Amino acid sequence: MVPVIALVGRPNVGKSTLFNRLTKSRDAIVADYSGLTRDRKYGEAKWQGRTYIVIDTGGISGDEEGIDAKMAEQSLQAIEEADAVLFMVDSRAGMTAADQMIAEHLRKKNKRTFLAANKVDTVDPDIARAEFSPLAIGDAWPIAAAHGRGITALLQAALGEF
Ligand code: GDP
Ligand code: MG
Repeated sequence: MVPVIALVGRPNVGKSTLFNRLTKSRDAIVADYSGLTRDRKYGEAKWQGRTYIVIDTGGISGDEEGIDAKMAEQSLQAIEEADAVLFMVDSRAGMTAADQMIAEHLRKKNKRTFLAANKVDTVDPDIARAEFSPLAIGDAWPIAAAHGRGITALLQAALGEF
C-alpha cells in the first residue's frame, strides 16, 4: 500500500513549500500571495526508501465564493482521499478563524491528522505549540518548511505507522 498524505490548511501557510520539499520538485507554484494553487496536485515522495504520495491543495479560507469555493472543495476531496492529513498553520500569523473552521471539520473525520505549525523560524516553537493547542488536534509539530526544520520528526509520526 502506498500511503497518501494530504497537505491541508488555509492559503499562505506554506503547503506548497512543504510539497516542493517533500517531492523535491518545483511543480507546485509557491507564491507570496494567497491562493495560487488552484487545484489539488499529486506528487511522489520517498521516506526512508518507501514511496508515498503527497497531495498539495489550494487551501480553505473559510469565506469562499467562486474560485475559492472550488479550492476548498478540492481540499475537502483531498482529505477524503488521504490516509493521513498534515494540517498546516502559520506560526507567524497565529491562529485564525479559518484554522478553527478547518480543525472543526477534521475533528469530525476519522482520519489520522497531524498539526504542523509552520514558519517556526519566525517564532519560538513553544509559543507556537501553545498558540494552536485550542484547535484540539493534538500537540503541534513545529516545522519550517522553507528551511527543512522539523520535517523528519513530523514524517516519522505521520508515516511511521504505514
Ligand atoms: P500555500 O499557500 O499554503 O501553498 O503557501 P506557500 O507555500 O505558497 O507559502 C506562502 C509563503 O510563506 C511564501 O512566501 C513562502 O516562502 C512562505 N513560507 C513557507 N514556508 C515558510 C517557512 O518555513 N518560514 C517562513 N518564514 N516562510 C515560509
Ligand atoms: Mg500553495
